[in-house]
Amino acid sequence: MTAVLDRTGALALVSGSDLRVPLVQGGTRTYANFDYAASAPALVQVTDRIAELLPYYASVHRGAGYASRVSTQCYEAARATVGRFLHCADDQVVVFTRNTTDAVNLLAGCVPGDTVVLDIEHHANLLPWQRRGRRVVHAADTVEETLRRLTAELCAKPAALLAVTGASNVTGEVLPLDRLASLAHQCGARILVDAAQLAPHRRIDLCATGIDYLVLSGHKLYAPFGAGVLAGRRDWLDTAEPYLSGGGAVTDVTVTNTVWAAAPQRHEAGSPNVLGAAALATACEVLTELGDRAEEYERALTHRLRDGLADIPGVRCLRVWTDSADSVGIVAFTVDGFEAGRVAAYLSAEYGIGVRDGRFCAHPLLARLGVDAALRASIGLGTTHADIDRLLEAVAVLVDRGPRWDYAGTGGRWDPVPETRPGLIPGTAAGNAPCTI
Ligand code: PLP
Repeated sequence: MTAVLDRTGALALVSGSDLRVPLVQGGTRTYANFDYAASAPALVQVTDRIAELLPYYASVHRGAGYASRVSTQCYEAARATVGRFLHCADDQVVVFTRNTTDAVNLLAGCVPGDTVVLDIEHHANLLPWQRRGRRVVHAADTVEETLRRLTAELCAKPAALLAVTGASNVTGEVLPLDRLASLAHQCGARILVDAAQLAPHRRIDLCATGIDYLVLSGHKLYAPFGAGVLAGRRDWLDTAEPYLSGGGAVTDVTVTNTVWAAAPQRHEAGSPNVLGAAALATACEVLTELGDRAEEYERALTHRLRDGLADIPGVRCLRVWTDSADSVGIVAFTVDGFEAGRVAAYLSAEYGIGVRDGRFCAHPLLARLGVDAALRASIGLGTTHADIDRLLEAVAVLVDRGPRWDYAGTGGRWDPVPETRPGLIPGTAAGNAPCTI
């Protein structure tokens, strides 16, 4: 495949890389997408693959027709590809889910005991455990002390599972997963890694690190077609009540008795999302092929972004730990004197830049960091150095001179006043209405 494309200067071509968006002062600009951590654009290889498979789209595991057989093969081949991508061990299976949230909820129904979590987690890895013996450990200011606290909690009272984030969706900081896996195992627990933010940026080897379970979302991994993954050890999954009951999850049913299938089918009732699974597998193949180049490319961009923001007076970049050794391309920051929502609206309206603002579904972490809301700039394979420079320039101009336009906030959402940009839905009549979101 082609790496470093001349046309965009990015490492990989993503859908929307040449999208033009309107500016409030008039004219258009190529969209600078800094919201990969929320949902990443599709890789072109992924959209090509979907276009190739669509004519064959048919039922999976349910038909003898040729298209059904092709769809079934694609679905099972996707499962195998994801298993290889994650280096699953022999006793680990890949269950296709809708997303990370779905995958964590699925596993939460299978864990035979307490689960220990940190207070820095995304809500998806915090709330599902609330109903089932959740024990929350408060992260310390250093990774080392945080690991000591986790060990103390796991050893003080038996727990079945330690559920931790691989990379924070707020600060991008990465935890030492191999050490976490060993400490969980030493205390008799298993480990789940929420890799929603880690998997798009780092290659993960379940076998080598000793990770028992991993969850991720296709839409954050350049495959926005509605599939996610729970990969992990088969025994808990084989014995637990199925997450969803219905067709495909059983081997035999009478009116009085149901024989559930083994995992993964046991947890995939209903018609599977074959296109989503194939999209995800294609993204895994592209990322595998890019190898270390992806990490190197993103590291360079992330340093440029972090260093540039740190040089702007009044900008504070957020972090949880003073000693975290690694972080992925996610930077959360605040700008003194400006509400996060207003800055996000300004970046979009005047510079054609998309960032996220708010509390990022991590309210306990934001509270602990002492901010009501922040901005988050996240990057990926389609980000260019020119994008970074545009964001840095826009923030520097804001701090120096303020916005050129007026903005008004209602219910936490800020809009330019007046809003001059056209409506939002391309190709529909609604697209002609004024932009109100
Ligand atoms: N975990 C982390 C670390 C996340 O960043 C997110 C989403 O932003 C999730 C879980 C939930 O992912 P999804 O919305 O795809 O279920």
